[in-house]
Amino acid sequence: MRASLLLTMLAYSAFSLTASANDELSTTLPQEPSYQPGQTSTETTKVIILGSGHPAPDPDRQGPALAILVNGSAYLVDAGTGIVRQATAAAKNGYPELRPPNLGRVFLTHLHSDHTLGLPDLLLSSWVFGRSAPFELYGPKGSAIMIENIHNAWMEDITIRTTGFQKANQTGHLTNVHEFSAGPIFEDDNIKVTAIAVPHGDWKQAYGFRFETADRIIVISGDTSPSEDIVDACNPCDLLIHEVYTREVGAQPDGQGIAGMNWQRYFSNFHTSTEELGKLATKANPGLLLLTHHMQLGLTSDEEMVSQIREHYDGPLQIGVDLGVY
Ligand SMILES: [Zn+2]
Ligand SMILES: [Zn+2]
Repeated sequence: MRASLLLTMLAYSAFSLTASANDELSTTLPQEPSYQPGQTSTETTKVIILGSGHPAPDPDRQGPALAILVNGSAYLVDAGTGIVRQATAAAKNGYPELRPPNLGRVFLTHLHSDHTLGLPDLLLSSWVFGRSAPFELYGPKGSAIMIENIHNAWMEDITIRTTGFQKANQTGHLTNVHEFSAGPIFEDDNIKVTAIAVPHGDWKQAYGFRFETADRIIVISGDTSPSEDIVDACNPCDLLIHEVYTREVGAQPDGQGIAGMNWQRYFSNFHTSTEELGKLATKANPGLLLLTHHMQLGLTSDEEMVSQIREHYDGPLQIGVDLGVY
């Protein structure tokens, strides 16, 4: 019974999955003498932080996601909670590339839930509100099965919308999945994308990205402990977007929060401390170091986080904020 039901569901599915390996507000901190203004976004290439958050549900910071805009096209990175609403907010702020029908391509750093919880929203809402071309998703190994399961989970909705009264277009719910490993993964007239394998605790598949456009080189760390490959990918670059945690977060007593969690070991294996980031940024020499996915957990102020980084780095630095343009 269960098998035949599954077959029926699959037969009903117009889902296309093409997975193949290697197929490859702007707010600066309160004014302090040590801050440098940093590079502003250029005419051609802009970065908009859609979500600067991390797994903890901070209502002021949506889940990890950003958009790179080049010549009217949007290239999304990660799909945390709130991504479509944040993109729509950015569209209302003057960036129509981020209207729902224009959301058609995303690059996933890794499959941690905070970076992927917005995927059903991204895939389905952009279709329901007008995108007819299949979605193009670039992600690490495991992305194909995740997308297949999302599609199956929303099968009732897709069937109703494609066969019923609503008459949504018949193609926009399809997703082409391109699973990648380290190396060049995408290129078009606007942008060249290279995936950089990064160390992120137990994750065997975690990546940062290097984006090259006509006027900018942007390096995104993804979630990672300190990575020399990220340094090399920048060194120098125009914009280094990097995660970080503060020393107070890493020093939480064992057993607090998640039961039995050894916080110090967790953070040092999975993430980059303020001290490590300061040293790393000095070597990477970016035009601007932009913090996102910064983990303070209410224990450290923005100013204290910056001062910890400043012990090892004196270049341009900003804290990314949701809907900030860089
Ligand atoms: Zn994360
Ligand atoms: Zn992660």
